[in-house]
Amino acid sequence: MKMAFQLIFFTFFFTALIFSSLPSNYAHSHYPIDIGPAMVRNLDKEFQDSNTIPGISHITVAGAVLHGFNEIEVWMETAAPGGSTPVHRHACEEVFVVLKGSGTLYVASNASDSDGGKVFPGRPETMHFSVNSTFHVAPDVVHQVLNTDPHQDLHLLVVVSKPPIKVMMYEDWTTPHNEAQLMNPFVWDARYVVADQTSSAQEI
Ligand code: ZN
Repeated sequence: MKMAFQLIFFTFFFTALIFSSLPSNYAHSHYPIDIGPAMVRNLDKEFQDSNTIPGISHITVAGAVLHGFNEIEVWMETAAPGGSTPVHRHACEEVFVVLKGSGTLYVASNASDSDGGKVFPGRPETMHFSVNSTFHVAPDVVHQVLNTDPHQDLHLLVVVSKPPIKVMMYEDWTTPHNEAQLMNPFVWDARYVVADQTSSAQEI
């Protein structure tokens, strides 16, 4: 009986500990959302965070994990002045619409630059963009997006195909292709589903 009490106590204690570390507005969420045939949501109420990328704030507007999307995934991304995505590539298509601010797109100009048997993305081409611009990145092209405006945030609407996407991350532009790190799959929103499962367990 004493053992049972201790078990219940520690289960409650650790559950409380987990919840205290979760974003407060998601601790009682019911993700994944059954988005159904249609659903209107207010983006101000959607959770956003950097997902470990400094200077970036990310909202999954429609995602593979959260909403069960199979064909596209839609993000709202904000980059603080100087903030950037990692140098990366993925097998999916990607489209950007610049809602606010300006920045620079770096795109690998030569995917077969080689030196000493190692193949590199090559020196990137530099393309500047500003509000109302759009650009896309073809599959497997190494790229990076940077907010070069020192005074204002960069707001991007991003659409990718074939979620959940698998991303190869490069430390920088000198990283050979075979040393890029696979984040497989790089699912932005997966941890909130874990939060939801914990929430359901607690409610029972
Ligand atoms: Zn990308």
